[in-house]
Amino acid sequence: MKIAIFLIGILFFSFISAEIKFNLVHQTKIKITYPDGDDPIIKNGIKDALEILKRDDFYTKISEKQDFTFTSERPKHLSQMIKDATISIRVRMYDGGENTATLAYVTSDYPNTIFINKGKTGRSRASIANTIIHEVIHSIDRSNQDARFGHGGNSSEGKKESAPYWIGQLAENLLNRDSFVKNYKVNYELSKNTNDPSLSLWYNDGLRHVEETEELEESMILD
Ligand SMILES: [Zn+2]
Repeated sequence: MKIAIFLIGILFFSFISAEIKFNLVHQTKIKITYPDGDDPIIKNGIKDALEILKRDDFYTKISEKQDFTFTSERPKHLSQMIKDATISIRVRMYDGGENTATLAYVTSDYPNTIFINKGKTGRSRASIANTIIHEVIHSIDRSNQDARFGHGGNSSEGKKESAPYWIGQLAENLLNRDSFVKNYKVNYELSKNTNDPSLSLWYNDGLRHVEETEELEESMILD
């Protein structure tokens, strides 16, 4: 009995520390609102984007990058600028249709408004968060007079390594990794409760898979 309590204690502690390691830490001063809309995918995308803006691992990954295309700003400095940004952004939808590559945009006339193409929202929640973070970077860019960190035109060569594209993709990768780990946690609980050996085998395979995926994603985004 004592051993069982001890083991439960260890398990509980490891879950708590995993949560702490994952999240939190930074209080962002970036506000993102969606006052006129009720599309759940947009609401969830905003929630995820705001969550990402509070995470230390997000800023660490940005500052560790060697450089971005289309800017002379150092990634470390850029990371600090996003951390320090005080900006209120409003999300609005527009009907751009499906037959376009444009997912969203920020204009000089409305630098604090992200316009999202309603015709291109049939995507994952993490992909929507990617778009929102991408546009947040444009918005911070436009609110800073001395710095420029865009990606040229929409068909520019090397734009994937630009700050808006790379940082948006980083957010999406972090979110996908999180939900992956969370799913395996759920299945782990299930395997404990049912004592189904195939489930726990699956969980163990899953854990290995998580580790491999983590490595793959790291090399993908740091290249
Ligand atoms: Zn862009």
